[in-house]
Amino acid sequence: MHRITVIGGGFAGLTAAITAAEAGAKVTVYEAHHTLGGWARTAEGPYRTNEGPHALYSGGPHWAWLKQRDLIGPLAPIPPLEAARLRLRHRGVLRRTPPFAMLKLLRRGLPQAPVDVDFQTWATGIAGEEGARAAAHYSAVALFHHDPGALSAAFVWERLRRATKLPPEAHYPQGGWATMIDRMAARAWNLGVRMETLSRVDSLDDLDGLQSPATDAPVIVATSLDAARRLLKDDSLTWTSGRTALIDLAVRTRRGDAFAVSDLDETGWLERFTAQDRSLAPAGEQLIQGQFPIAPHETRADGIARAEQLLDLGFPGWRERVTWRRESVASGRTGAVDLPGTSWRDRPAVDRGDGIYLAGDQVAAPGVLSEVSFNSALTAVSLALGRHALDLKRA
Ligand SMILES: Cc1cc2nc3c(=O)[nH]c(=O)nc-3n(C[C@H](O)[C@H](O)[C@H](O)COP(=O)(O)OP(=O)(O)OC[C@H]3O[C@@H](n4cnc5c(N)ncnc54)[C@H](O)[C@@H]3O)c2cc1C
Repeated sequence: MHRITVIGGGFAGLTAAITAAEAGAKVTVYEAHHTLGGWARTAEGPYRTNEGPHALYSGGPHWAWLKQRDLIGPLAPIPPLEAARLRLRHRGVLRRTPPFAMLKLLRRGLPQAPVDVDFQTWATGIAGEEGARAAAHYSAVALFHHDPGALSAAFVWERLRRATKLPPEAHYPQGGWATMIDRMAARAWNLGVRMETLSRVDSLDDLDGLQSPATDAPVIVATSLDAARRLLKDDSLTWTSGRTALIDLAVRTRRGDAFAVSDLDETGWLERFTAQDRSLAPAGEQLIQGQFPIAPHETRADGIARAEQLLDLGFPGWRERVTWRRESVASGRTGAVDLPGTSWRDRPAVDRGDGIYLAGDQVAAPGVLSEVSFNSALTAVSLALGRHALDLKRA
């Protein structure tokens, strides 16, 4: 039986563990934290926040994989009346519809956006400068970057199309992403995966001490890229990511509040998650999560000031209705972003040699956000098991 060691018990690590165990491998997962899930965790009640606004997109291969195994669980659909309360800030006021110029970028039959040109330049040729900027800012919902217009046109356009598709791709596991993580952990458990929480691995040499008996099993490093760089002592493990201020709020219910507000004048997104899932906050309260990308010279306070402006527009009287509030910054933890001239193929490769593989949302795999973690985890397992089988054949 093949053995595989997985370091990190987030979405990537659990995907890798389940896939390898389904293929018959004996898997051990080491997770530093006391719970599994990484950035896919959900807070315990009474305010069941994900780590920043999270939606599960249905257009990627992870969707079918999770569905087939019944790992998503019940979904919380957005009632049509609530969905109609999506608002867009444009030229300082809230609107129900996007500016017409922006729609030109969503027409069918447009040629594929180029990799080597920035989005703002490419999109300006189709939608004019203002339409291009509005589209870039809207795409920040799936980018978490302060200047999406400066990124590769191909990269941003894919996210723009995914985030504006009808019917929407965004879905919400009832109770938050933790319910999906719990199901994945249960599946891994049933497949015999050994999961060691509170087990930080600081060096691959640690594994000899942790494993019993010591093996030369392939290792899948499914941590953040920063943690992988430290663990593997490999300075080449870097890639660009976003930096965003996060705000979580509970407010007393008021009829007429927006469902979500996208800022087309700058980058920023607010979403009232109780619109689709009442279980996320106590009765009579609404849970709002927002993310406001900040430039390198900006502070959390700058992002939060923009959040408050948008709250003023979409949630009148919110200041007097607040019952709970939390703020933070996610820096380099919102997945890879590709600069002009680069694509996912240029990111740190999954196969690091010597039986070591990377999985995570900043490595060389396609997809949007967590789909990169999923795709890289599948690639890592197939390479690890394939190579192992080849080694056995040669021996
Ligand atoms: C604000 C925000 C909003 C997001 N919104 C969305 C969204 O709407 N849709 C979407 O698809 N994705 C979204 N994402 C991205 C998604 O959360 C991540 O892509 C995904 O959770 C990453 O999973 P991962 O397993 O690759 O990494 P992580 O979640 O970082 O998991 C890595 C795990 O490794 C552990 N670890 C680290 N170092 C060690 C070590 N040395 N030893 C042992 N264990 C270690 C960590 O504790 C962690 O549990 C969002 C992310 C953020 C930050």
